Amino acid sequence: MSATEKITQGEEIRTRPCPACPVCGSSGTVFYRDLVDAFFGAPGKWSSRKCTNPDCRLVWLDPMPLEEDIALAYRDYFTHHGTAAARWIEQDERSGSLAQRMYGLVRKQYWKNRYGYYGGIQGGRAGLIGHLAYLHPGWRASLDSKVFYLPANPGGKLLEIGSGGGQQLEIMNALGWQAEGVDRDPEARKNAMSRGLKVSLGVLEDQDFPENHFDAVISNHVIEHVFDPVSLLKEVHRILKPGGRFVFITPNIESWGHRVFRHADLMFMDSPRHLYVFSMPSFRRLAEQAGFGKISALTTIRHASSLYFSDRAISRTGHFEQGGRVSMSDRLGAKGLQVVEWAALKLRPAAGEEIVLIGEK
Ligand SMILES: [Zn+2]
Repeated sequence: MSATEKITQGEEIRTRPCPACPVCGSSGTVFYRDLVDAFFGAPGKWSSRKCTNPDCRLVWLDPMPLEEDIALAYRDYFTHHGTAAARWIEQDERSGSLAQRMYGLVRKQYWKNRYGYYGGIQGGRAGLIGHLAYLHPGWRASLDSKVFYLPANPGGKLLEIGSGGGQQLEIMNALGWQAEGVDRDPEARKNAMSRGLKVSLGVLEDQDFPENHFDAVISNHVIEHVFDPVSLLKEVHRILKPGGRFVFITPNIESWGHRVFRHADLMFMDSPRHLYVFSMPSFRRLAEQAGFGKISALTTIRHASSLYFSDRAISRTGHFEQGGRVSMSDRLGAKGLQVVEWAALKLRPAAGEEIVLIGEK
């Protein structure tokens, strides 16, 4: 009987013990026991450890799923759906409701002022419109993440690891990058390619991209799913041009929301798909091990709102569906939470829901 048949029939993800910290080798204390998959119903109960090294503080699964069985945790996963984002980017300021047009205008002007897109900074009244993005800190966090904190680089080569349905590639192409993706989900790739995007199938290490090739490599909530993140980052280092940057976004185990919302734990842990949940220092160490010298890190409040939604949903029903309907009161609560967290970040800058790690070759 093949391994795949065994998984399908037995509904079991096999594991191996993983008592030592995969980043620094220190011992770990038990962090969670018996977590279940609240999102996609993958089989099993999952426990994790937290690294005792004060300069690391990584959280990881122990026991660790076997790589050959992990597909079972992704049967109903959501990465392959995608809608055309570039059209959304072009149309917002000209069509749609008044609010949508206004939003499109502010977004464009903000990216222009802050990152030099659309020809760069423009003075006068038009330039001032971009400052409206400062009205709500959650809005700004979302706009920064949408361009991965990358300044304009017309014609620059960009690779997205885990490009899913391809929306981010479309955004970056629309902003002047030459973007391509790599994804291990054939459905996702097919969907993205049907919209004219360039996507390779598989994992990064198997692609054989040329050395010193890309100006930027980005990924959003991918590294925590990867079995060997150092090997991945080493490959990123190899394919980046000197001076090129990687920008990776991942959940922050030390976020404020994680401390405050009990049910948020489930979203952070996302067991068993999140093999690791990073702290700022553990993520930095990982990049250093891969050869990056110039590293900067920040945390963001972008996902403080989805944290609120998932916490509410899990409290009510025991599970949470991404993209489900959200009531007006929950929407307002989520916006409020973002403002509170934005204020909290003034005191503790490492307490945002996501870590953004930027490394330069
Ligand atoms: Zn450690």
